[in-house]
Amino acid sequence: MELPTKLFINNQESSLLQWIRLHKLMIGTVSAASAAFARGPWASFSGAQRAACLLRVAALVEENAEKLAYLESLPTGRPISGIIHFDLKHMVEVFRYYAGWADKIEGRSYNEDNGFYKIVRYEPIGVCAGIASWNATFMYVGWKVAPALAAGNVFIFKTSEKSPFGALALGPLFVEAGFPPGVVQFVTGGALTGSLIASHRKISKLSFTGSANVGMKIQEAAAKSNLKKVTLELGGKSPAIVFADAPMGLAVGGVGSGFLANSGQICVAASRVLVEEKIAKEFCASIVKVFEAASKGMGADIMDPNTQHGPVVDQEQFQRIMKYIELGKKSAQLLTGGERIGNKGAFIQPTLFFEPSLDSPIWIEEIFGPVLTVKTFRTEEEAIELANETEYGLAACIYTSDLTRALRVSSKIQAGGVAINSPFLPEVNTPFGGTKQSGYGHELGKDSLLEYMNSKSVHIKSVFPFLGSYCID
Ligand code: NAD
Repeated sequence: MELPTKLFINNQESSLLQWIRLHKLMIGTVSAASAAFARGPWASFSGAQRAACLLRVAALVEENAEKLAYLESLPTGRPISGIIHFDLKHMVEVFRYYAGWADKIEGRSYNEDNGFYKIVRYEPIGVCAGIASWNATFMYVGWKVAPALAAGNVFIFKTSEKSPFGALALGPLFVEAGFPPGVVQFVTGGALTGSLIASHRKISKLSFTGSANVGMKIQEAAAKSNLKKVTLELGGKSPAIVFADAPMGLAVGGVGSGFLANSGQICVAASRVLVEEKIAKEFCASIVKVFEAASKGMGADIMDPNTQHGPVVDQEQFQRIMKYIELGKKSAQLLTGGERIGNKGAFIQPTLFFEPSLDSPIWIEEIFGPVLTVKTFRTEEEAIELANETEYGLAACIYTSDLTRALRVSSKIQAGGVAINSPFLPEVNTPFGGTKQSGYGHELGKDSLLEYMNSKSVHIKSVFPFLGSYCID
């Protein structure tokens, strides 16, 4: 049989030789992880010992925050301040949170009522892996690695090819924190490496953060290889609904500045804004002011701790966003922005569109950049209908002073998370995840811990042979 010399991953050509080389590396990585899980000292670590290691990682990350932020900032263009004060701070918080769980994993038991005692145990799954996007690598390390280790698993984390350095620098910190060899491994690489992980038969659980398009390929590869358990944290086109009685300061801050964090490259960014018609003009004028002020600060040194806004991640993403902006100019009113800043790098003016047509790509598709679109509504029912008219269901924001309305509307929104009078931000103790094409499964909270464990039911017949036919009760 003649072997193919080329293969295609995400419609891009890769050579068979490259595949063979990476495949060999992956076999080594997974073998080390399997050995650490089955035979290494980690297998007999108590919950308290695992907690101690997790707490030490948190402390080491805090100590090394500046160096780590620098390494993450270099390839992504993200201002160092956001990485230190948001991503790394959150990662540390997440490790401490799951350290608290490590020695509190419990099961259940049921009284004998039908001739059987029943015990339910929660056990680690084994070799787990994570594949992540580039926009907040340290947060994804926290979300995926910390609960998996708290539950007693071993972990292989693949960074995005666009943000490899920061996560690689975490490796030595895990060693210093006392994790035995093979328990936590960081690998870099692109789609080919990712596809080898997704289809590896000895990886039992995979948590993926990235686009819906790649998420579907991951699920397919998991199903075709070994039916590994999959969590999919995918894209979004999240709505913000601003009612006329909204606390204006919070609404303008959340919809304007909140959206521009990380140059709009945030999965939960509320990129579709629905504003009650009677306040739309005044509201949009305020957002224009926020956007134009942010635009003036762009182009500043991303390593300066005072810089808040940076470029988008690379030329590919830049071209993609500019294409959407050009499409937006044909299907909506441009209120501000719409151009590149300077002629170097990938800086884009924060851009605001108004009243798009309902079939406009800027209204329907995820742009993942500093492009916001506002549409007006007249009634609560109309706002809910427009908010739910999307194939995604990651998050939503509701701005109103009427708590009854906020709760009523939040129950009708099809999304994994709803924030009231704030952008939606992950919290360590509540589950984070999407519905519809934003994926399934959860990160954070107790929910995520359960995703990294298998439940096992043990049934004990209450008649023991050595006791003859006596029942124990
Ligand atoms: P992407 O889907 O292009 O890549 C994500 C990861 O998948 C990368 O590590 C990449 O190397 C890998 N990959 C690519 N092709 C693969 C394949 N065929 N098999 C296996 N792995 C493969 O996404 P991106 O551009 O890095 O990130 C942006 C997207 O991620 C947006 O859609 C955004 O909304 C989403 N995102 C979601 C969340 C969330 O928690 N829901 C968080 C951040 C980003």
